[in-house]
Amino acid sequence: MGRLITNNLENSGYYDVVKSAFKDFNVDLNEVEHAESDAGLGNGGLGRLSACFLDYAASLSLPLYGNSLRYEKGFFTQEIKNHQQVEHEDHWLDKPFIWETKKEDEALHVPFYGFVEDTVLKNPTWVKAVPYDVKVVGDQNGVVTTLRLWGTEPSERQKNQDDAYLKMVDTIDDQLYPDDSTFAGKELRLQQQYLFSATGVMHALREHKSLGRDIKDLAKYYTFQINDTHPTLVIPELMRLLMDEEGLRYDDAWKITTETCAFTNHTILAEALEKWNVDFFKTVLPRIYEIVLEINRRFTKALRAKKMFSDVEIKQMSIIGDHQIRMAHMCIFGSFSVNGVAALHTEILKNIEMKNFYKMYPQKFNNKTNGITHRRWLIHTNHELVKILDEKIGTSWRQDLTKLEAFDKFKDDEATKQQVLQMKLAKKQALADRIYQLQGIKLDVNSLFDIQVKRLHEYKRQLMNLLHIIYVYQRLKTDKTFKDNYSAHSFIFGAKSAPSYYMAKKIIELISTVSEVINQDEDTNHLLKVVFVENYNVTYAEYIMPAADLSEQISTASKEASGTGNMKFMMNGALTIGTMDGANVEIVEEAGLENEFIFGMSSKEVNELYKNNTYQPRKVFENDPRLQKAFEFMSQLNTDPNYFNDIKDGLLNKDYFFVLKDFDAYVKAHETANEAFKNQSAWLTKSMMNIAHSGYFTSDRTIENYNNDIWHLSKIYK
Ligand SMILES: *Cc1c(COP(=O)(O)O)cnc(C)c1O
Repeated sequence: MGRLITNNLENSGYYDVVKSAFKDFNVDLNEVEHAESDAGLGNGGLGRLSACFLDYAASLSLPLYGNSLRYEKGFFTQEIKNHQQVEHEDHWLDKPFIWETKKEDEALHVPFYGFVEDTVLKNPTWVKAVPYDVKVVGDQNGVVTTLRLWGTEPSERQKNQDDAYLKMVDTIDDQLYPDDSTFAGKELRLQQQYLFSATGVMHALREHKSLGRDIKDLAKYYTFQINDTHPTLVIPELMRLLMDEEGLRYDDAWKITTETCAFTNHTILAEALEKWNVDFFKTVLPRIYEIVLEINRRFTKALRAKKMFSDVEIKQMSIIGDHQIRMAHMCIFGSFSVNGVAALHTEILKNIEMKNFYKMYPQKFNNKTNGITHRRWLIHTNHELVKILDEKIGTSWRQDLTKLEAFDKFKDDEATKQQVLQMKLAKKQALADRIYQLQGIKLDVNSLFDIQVKRLHEYKRQLMNLLHIIYVYQRLKTDKTFKDNYSAHSFIFGAKSAPSYYMAKKIIELISTVSEVINQDEDTNHLLKVVFVENYNVTYAEYIMPAADLSEQISTASKEASGTGNMKFMMNGALTIGTMDGANVEIVEEAGLENEFIFGMSSKEVNELYKNNTYQPRKVFENDPRLQKAFEFMSQLNTDPNYFNDIKDGLLNKDYFFVLKDFDAYVKAHETANEAFKNQSAWLTKSMMNIAHSGYFTSDRTIENYNNDIWHLSKIYK
């Protein structure tokens, strides 16, 4: 979520009033902001997306609510020590979190473990779940919406409250799992997922019934939007409640369930797919397991009846297979809608990853390209740009971001360009000040700010970015013509690695080590600086997004489902250097190919190369002296020349994400960008084209799409 104070104040319309009132007491509102923790209730893009959706729900008064856990410790904070990532627990609730209200009387009791006798769950371990409602304020409309966070406590229903029980209750809401894009089947994580899925469903059923409505009409009033597979258990839990508590027959319960649940897929990385081991799933959730078995029996029966698939294919599609429960498969079968999060991503789902499911249920599949809330990522973070836009095109764009298109008219107007330039310099200065204050590194605001901030993952290819930087550095040291032609660059990285992700941590160490060497070199210092910002989070992002000239979106094509960082940068006037992946494809469509720097393999080429298995990274390396020299450089960074060998060997032997393969094209794209930056006026035109055509990427549009096609909610207040 990041911080709520400024967002809530601005949306309430009282920001200026409060600011001046504070001033009367000699208190700077910006200082007060720091009294609030970043609410780190998610891992990265997916969590931030949900936060953007809530902002819209409140601002457009849709009855849309978030449901999650009240983690005592949020996403870890990162320190870089001896160039390595060190994780610290995030005790975010130690600072006052004034936005939440505990709703003791709305507590629920959730059953774990036990055994099943005649379809009845016996002797479960009860955990009490207590909701804390967090208020998210809408944009000057008098509406607040709720993010409901569940905390766990010992349940009065539980007779035996021994130490093991109390520990379990304590642990469930203790901390957020910091893994992004990888899946580790941990029992605690299953407990967490069941807790927030079950409470969400129980709460909705209780509300539905208390309003005197018929249980059979549930789908008329509710949709559970399953946001990636983490809440998949909503499906069997709803079945359980409808059958065991409401006394419905399986068929009736299934009809209601499949008309109520909708699924959003956020990733196609194989290592991220959630698959639970049958044995402990059965132990933790015995009744739910029984229901899943029955769901799967009927699913495979339906597949056979369709006579479309071979036995092998049916095995592959099955919800249970290889002694595992495949959550994505359950979601597709149990939902009336399945969507991807960018046009390319949805096409890949339909034609490759979920091809057979698409054959079976073509009507379920649809696309909802992600968006970001322009209220936080433009209005709140970039007052300088807001001022220019208001002056040139009026203020109606704030309500309807597609109106930014009118700014297009000014793309050749020199006076406007000068204003945009001043805006960019001011935002670069603010970021440079922050970096200097926190890390003591000085940046020249006239240099090109080239920024890659996102989770550290091999598919995002921070390593390719670094290899290019090493190449540039070496060239600056040896090639005078190159040096004379080089526009000064400041390369900025920010990224957290999952604590157990060895290669990602090694890459952070390499970036940090290289940056120290480069920053100390007085020969090249005026032309090249490299910063790894510590503890990248939402608040940091609010400084970073408006300060970029160039936005690095260089994932291996087909691997990034959408990306949203790319949109935040674009909306603030950065040009994208990127691959045709995720929503980059749509950014190019909106802003025009001539206003970005696109390079590298297409998603089709990537998939073909995987299929025919002919890629030989070592050959690429042997034919490219730039790569060889960069590897030599890496050997000189440590007294042990083999210190970074795992990174090198990974590239030479496998290079699963085609870093070496795309390197040449990436260097060329940078050369083009370097030339383009010299023509300030032309660059500003491109920057303005990005701003003017970023309207499509507001989450207001995304949510309108969800609502028109999937939810059909009416506004609470008009
Ligand atoms: C937007 C955002 C992300 C997502 O970035 P991608 O480049 O889309 O992966 C991750 N972390 C934070 C803090 C963000 O604000």
